[in-house]
Amino acid sequence: MRVVIAMMKHETNTFSPVPTPIERFARGQALPFYGEEAYRAYKGTGSGIGAFIDIAEEEGWEIVTPIAANAWPSGLVHDDAYRQMVDAICQAVEQGCDAAMLDLHGAMVTQSYEDGEGQLLTRLRKIAPDLPIATALDMHTNLYEDIVANSTIVAGYQTYPHIDTYETAMRAGRPLVRVLKGEVIPTMAWGNRPMLPHVMRQGTDDYPNKDLQTRTKEMEAGEALAATVFTGFPHADIQNAGLSAVVVTDNDMAKAEKLRDELLDTAWGAREAFVYRIEPLETSLARAKTVEDGPVVLLDHYDNAASGGTMDTMTVLGAILREGLEDVAAFAIHDPEAVQQMIAAGVGATVTVSLGGKIDMPSINLKGEPLEVTGRVKLISDGQYRNLGPASKGVLMDMGPSVVLDTGKVEIVVISRHQEPNDLGCFLSLGIDPRTKRYLMLKSRIHYRAGFKPIAKEIIECAGTGVCTSDYDQLEFKNVRRPIYPLDLINEPG
Ligand SMILES: [Zn+2]
Repeated sequence: MRVVIAMMKHETNTFSPVPTPIERFARGQALPFYGEEAYRAYKGTGSGIGAFIDIAEEEGWEIVTPIAANAWPSGLVHDDAYRQMVDAICQAVEQGCDAAMLDLHGAMVTQSYEDGEGQLLTRLRKIAPDLPIATALDMHTNLYEDIVANSTIVAGYQTYPHIDTYETAMRAGRPLVRVLKGEVIPTMAWGNRPMLPHVMRQGTDDYPNKDLQTRTKEMEAGEALAATVFTGFPHADIQNAGLSAVVVTDNDMAKAEKLRDELLDTAWGAREAFVYRIEPLETSLARAKTVEDGPVVLLDHYDNAASGGTMDTMTVLGAILREGLEDVAAFAIHDPEAVQQMIAAGVGATVTVSLGGKIDMPSINLKGEPLEVTGRVKLISDGQYRNLGPASKGVLMDMGPSVVLDTGKVEIVVISRHQEPNDLGCFLSLGIDPRTKRYLMLKSRIHYRAGFKPIAKEIIECAGTGVCTSDYDQLEFKNVRRPIYPLDLINEPG
């Protein structure tokens, strides 16, 4: 038995000015991981591809890993990058295999395709019409027919922050093993509702997504081989952006459709609770000052690198500095230029840098606005660390050359590669213990909860600026299907 196992992941923010060439998929290497390297990089990790490798090894299968490519969210994936990744997977399947297990995202938009994953699966299906294919997806999948029609089993994350990447791949891969043994015949029903849940309201600690995900787990414990609600990724102006569901049953389409409809109807009924209400930044910071006990998380959620943010807007950090908040650690400002300037100055040097604001954001009519900051270069690092978990435990992260700039009141982490703060390791690896700080400014939306919610005394959401804005009025939607809630106030599903 020979199985092709591959990873190709990107969440595309079509409003993001950050480019997505093949190098962005490299995670600190010159290129993505190919062949044996892909196996070595992810074997034994808490990743989806790691789970697929574990399944295949348990079964004693021959494993082929053509590529493991994973990039931080950003703008449209460049066509040549997409072609390289897809070609690698297709060539491996062309060489002959008995099954494929794919660790994909589900919200990849390329310069040419709205549905990068669907196009890949369509090509694979042409090459191997009967190949059993397990597809593991992110909860932010914007689901298309081609993904479902050309997979044998589809399963997506049931947690946000995503701490079940490994388990999700198990939920897709284990039923595939049963398919190969002739034990089950999967039937899949998918569908969507015209709704665009705000990312800030999608966390699985909160109603309504908590309840929806609980129900998918109940279905899997009983009637379904796999059940998934995708909350969708709204910062993609494409036809099928938004909430969807897919249910896989054993040879029972009617049951799959019934369970799918239950999930979609429940989500639609809760649509108002998926709308995020914005608090003005001044109000948020005034509240922050009144909290006695730390750490208080100041969440700069309009500029999240794990949703396509430039990670260099200075609005929230600027307000923190202006308001004179003390004992703050900030993660992070992406500014390779400032990093090089501070490395040249050396540890201990006092520097004045023009920080952040290097990237314009034409989709929201904003120019990058740097902020002049003076401080001491406290620490210089290569920016590599392994996640402590629970998110992607053991996976090597790479912030690129990184510096801690200490203004006396605020320790600002400045990095050269995008990295969302979702793990305490991002601070600990730079000599900052986040548990001892009064305030933590984090450029994140929901993922910070994985590492930081357990240590946070209070969370204060700060409306800054950026292409991950939680204010849909700042985004010009041209391609998403209309009407769609809450862009259009509709009462019945279309
Ligand atoms: Zn996601």
